[in-house]
Amino acid sequence: MPKATATWIKDPLAILADGAERGVVVQDGRIVELIPAGATPKTPAETTFDASGHVVVPGLINTHHHFFQTLTRAAPAGLDRELFPWLKSLYPVWAGLTPEALELAVTVAMAELLLSGCTTTTDHHYVFPAGLEEAIDIEVAAAKRLGIRVVLTRGSMNLSQRDGGLPPDGVVQDEDTILADSKRLIDRHHQRGDDAMVQIALAPCSPFSVTTALMRSTADLAAQMEVRLHTHLAETEDENRYCTEIYGCRPLDYLENCGWLGDRTWLAHAVHFNADEIARLGQARTAISHCACSNQVLASGGCPVCDMEASGVKVGLGVDGSASNDASNMIQEVRAAFLVQRQRYGIKVSHRDALRWATQGSAACIGRASLGEIKPRNIADLALFKLDELRFSGHGDPIAALVLCGAHRADRVMVGGNWVVEDGRIPGLDIEQLIRRHSTAARRLQKL
Ligand SMILES: [Zn+2]
Repeated sequence: MPKATATWIKDPLAILADGAERGVVVQDGRIVELIPAGATPKTPAETTFDASGHVVVPGLINTHHHFFQTLTRAAPAGLDRELFPWLKSLYPVWAGLTPEALELAVTVAMAELLLSGCTTTTDHHYVFPAGLEEAIDIEVAAAKRLGIRVVLTRGSMNLSQRDGGLPPDGVVQDEDTILADSKRLIDRHHQRGDDAMVQIALAPCSPFSVTTALMRSTADLAAQMEVRLHTHLAETEDENRYCTEIYGCRPLDYLENCGWLGDRTWLAHAVHFNADEIARLGQARTAISHCACSNQVLASGGCPVCDMEASGVKVGLGVDGSASNDASNMIQEVRAAFLVQRQRYGIKVSHRDALRWATQGSAACIGRASLGEIKPRNIADLALFKLDELRFSGHGDPIAALVLCGAHRADRVMVGGNWVVEDGRIPGLDIEQLIRRHSTAARRLQKL
């Protein structure tokens, strides 16, 4: 078969890769060559993209989100509350989710992510009221339409208030239903291979909304079907108290008891681990999704990212649900993580660390070594930013400017060698109409 057209992304203003001063060549969805200063491509490139006005970075990877929550951004019921009361105020609202509303929510979240330089996103969908059994199928279809790479986690809740859990009875499912649907989704949608566009992972929601039996059976299913595991852990002190009271141990001990402490698992938040627990995470090669904005909005505390990395824990970034972060903007999340960790650890944290977390660190969370770094044979997932807005005027270092001056919008985004954002727009997506329809669905759901 003849090779597909090669494209030289030529002479970038700056690029987050060593030895690629004159850009990269992309062919068959992969980076095939880095072009150092003074050189020209060895690969014959039929197409050239002039990147002289662009900063090129690996596509950003979002490792924690709840797309459906774009329908409850800044919801009055949830304002100024910590996690447990915040959840209790919003569960009944989310119970009203419909397939139509979810489809709009997912499209909004994915569009927002793409336009912020994100090329791969996870989602954690855990609300399955009657009629929304095909929530993950709806997400798969939207991802294919928009061209974003996804690792969609089949969330679950089966421990309701009746049994001592936090969510109301109407939003949980039973264990058999959850496991059968998890298996169905993996069989139907999960792609293998390092260029997979759609993958499924399994994600019981949290210790306070899922039974121990479901945690264990989910881990067994994930091992059997070779997919990854994801959940929230150690997000708040309330959760620590809940685990001590109900399970007689701290969250990490509970995770280990459930058979989850291993390299198949990545955890959202990881705020309240002690030094011994951080060392155990490192030994187990369990990865962490740091959600800087969400932790700040919900006043959950801060993730000790440098302590984690010193113990060998891989750390990625996640925007988390749009009702706790209230945004799905990955490059802004990079800035938020940079600021909060710089404040915690001082100047040893640089803007380059924050970019590394959002790329290589996030790729480790989802077990995808061919993503997150601009190097030969890796997948051609790239984000290109222009520095022509007022906020960048006067900048020196273009890569530092992305983080320090607060970039918020990518000009071009490539996923698997295809442009999915061009000139700050997603081809074929009517954003004005999407906002109108999504806003109407949100008002209806929130009964505003
Ligand atoms: Zn979350």
